[in-house]
Amino acid sequence: MDKVMAVNAGSSSLKFKLYEMPEEKVLCSGNAERIGHEDAIFGIKWGSESEKKVLPILDHAAAVQLVVDALIEKKIIHSMDEIVAVGHRIVQGGKYFSHSELFSKDTEDKIESLIPLAPLHNKAHLVGFRAFKKILPNVTSVAVFDTAFHQSMEPQDYVFPIPYEYTTKYDCRRYGAHGTSHQYLSQEATKYLKGNKHPRIISCHIGSGASITAIKDSKCVATSMGLTPLGGIMMGTRTGDLDPSVMNYLCTCTGKSVEEMYQIFNKKSGFLGVSEVSNDSRDVLAAVDEGNEKAILANKLFIRRIADFIGQYYVRLGGVDMIIFSAGIGENSYEIRESICKEIEPALGLKIDYEKNKGKRGVEVVISKPESPIVVAVIPTDEEVMIARDTYHFYKK
Ligand code: AMP
Repeated sequence: MDKVMAVNAGSSSLKFKLYEMPEEKVLCSGNAERIGHEDAIFGIKWGSESEKKVLPILDHAAAVQLVVDALIEKKIIHSMDEIVAVGHRIVQGGKYFSHSELFSKDTEDKIESLIPLAPLHNKAHLVGFRAFKKILPNVTSVAVFDTAFHQSMEPQDYVFPIPYEYTTKYDCRRYGAHGTSHQYLSQEATKYLKGNKHPRIISCHIGSGASITAIKDSKCVATSMGLTPLGGIMMGTRTGDLDPSVMNYLCTCTGKSVEEMYQIFNKKSGFLGVSEVSNDSRDVLAAVDEGNEKAILANKLFIRRIADFIGQYYVRLGGVDMIIFSAGIGENSYEIRESICKEIEPALGLKIDYEKNKGKRGVEVVISKPESPIVVAVIPTDEEVMIARDTYHFYKK
């Protein structure tokens, strides 16, 4: 039976999920963390069992070997040949990739050339790919890009109003992110929109990273993240969109360099920066309940930013048939969903069943009433299964 592995390699981590295809049955999942350290952590879950151990994992190849050894030792597979393909999540595909691609020298070179646009991610993805290639040299390897789904945007949606020379010479434009998630959500949404030949969807992937995408006829027409995932709505630690002069002004005020301020915009802003409590929405909401003024403001800002993008995309799509909430906050926080819906309800005419919205966490559920002109649903995202599907597709070709 064909087994396909979905991989997400970071600079010091390697997440994996093994599927039996085409059934899409999850056989196991796991993570190697702190790669490069003597006290790295390796965790794996299979069936109802799980194991976690601390051990030296000196590089990504050692992590891959550990994964393969664990699969055999735990009898999840009997031989390495059962793994027919490996799909790698790649954060930045730039202008080159509008769909997933088989790994070739050319694919590798293009991913490498995009490192300046996603320095930490693309570099780490290549390290992960090369490590798998070393341990499993004969498998089909596929690159699945976070940006690919957004390549269908029109120039007026992705070009920044900067000197055009910078757009062409440096490829400085909107690429978006979370594309694999938005595509998965739009595919899952079709079952709620049967008979609608031109569905218009706004998908809200709101986790610690957050983005909103407008989808028409199954294609992305606009997305909130920009050149990098820093753009768009406010997030756990990222600013989202800002007046560009904020950078210049704050560097002058604080004496910090552009790079230092850029790190602050990425890692110390958003929920964390405004609330001064936490980047985690649960902590912020707990502080809201205690009457913490900054937490209340942070939460209001977050809701307002999301509502503004929904309004913008309502116009961009010429109306909307379905709004989807997903990812950590979208799937789990009924409070934030409720606040967003209350903010957009008067203009969009939604009818929400707020009791249903309070139901079980993390499950797929329609929260709008039957008479609502717009279907509003919570759909748990699944980027890994999309990676496995695309990868299996290349293997079978
Ligand atoms: P993600 O990046 O998709 O994993 O989402 C992380 C965000 O989801 C964090 O801000 C968490 O506070 C939020 N989150 C995760 N689980 C829950 C939960 N059970 N209730 C409320 N928020 C949650």
